Amino acid sequence: MTEVSVTKDATPPAGDALVALSQVNKHFGSLHVLQDIDLTIARGEVVVVIGPSGSGKSTLCRTINRLETIDSGAISIDGKPLPQEGKELAKLRADVGMVFQSFNLFAHKTVLENVTLGQIKVRKVSKSQAEEKARTLLDRVGVGAQADKYPAQLSGGQQQRVAIARALAMDPKVMLFDEPTSALDPEMINEVLEVMQQLARDGMTMVVVTHEMGFARSAANRVVFMADGRIVEEAVPDQFFSNPRSDRAKDFLSKIL
Ligand code: ADP
Ligand code: MG
Repeated sequence: MTEVSVTKDATPPAGDALVALSQVNKHFGSLHVLQDIDLTIARGEVVVVIGPSGSGKSTLCRTINRLETIDSGAISIDGKPLPQEGKELAKLRADVGMVFQSFNLFAHKTVLENVTLGQIKVRKVSKSQAEEKARTLLDRVGVGAQADKYPAQLSGGQQQRVAIARALAMDPKVMLFDEPTSALDPEMINEVLEVMQQLARDGMTMVVVTHEMGFARSAANRVVFMADGRIVEEAVPDQFFSNPRSDRAKDFLSKIL
């Protein structure tokens, strides 16, 4: 077997780091859910995070926008450490857009309001400007005609595209996607992945937790494989899928491919 070059080849230059995690550790009680995580994400890079259920992928995402605190180590966005509270934290959450498996739209707000609210409250944009931007973004993700409806009136795929538009409305520096298509009916998965593909092509910095290996192959600059709270392996997609090094990754891939 040929030697696969890993980690270093796939790691971006530190100078261009937009997101940097250094020796991050996190426990839930006695469970060591993130163990010595070092991860640097360059501006414009698309990193796909894969791994078995319970390996810490969601927790990793949630620490990056400080939905979870960490026990030790450091996280910085664009060279600045994560703020602890208050207005700075709200700004951080706007800078780090997050899209969840369960859409998480505001049920009692219209689609348009879902996409204007954060702009008005956090970014201090006027209502008319926020609406203009919201309509542009909703058109871009293909749900412009749904602007005046409520989330429950939309399909899952449409709701998830609204959630993406809502995050984009804040002009985030980086977008985190935590299994954005896992709750969708199969016929709706592609419409969401296509929006994400386009975002990637447009140069958005993205961290994507997904089981969609087609997306990983075509959109990712790098695949990060996690198991038991650790980054076990990272490589460019071609290398990772054709020649995984670790037994954990081989085992995982044999089950899902
Ligand atoms: P993944 O997204 O890879 O499936 P998670 O990050 O959701 O993994 O969870 C990693 C581990 O941490 C799991 O064992 C999970 O049960 C546990 N865990 C996650 N969130 C909490 C929490 N809030 N309290 C206690 N344990 C948690
Ligand atoms: Mg998860």
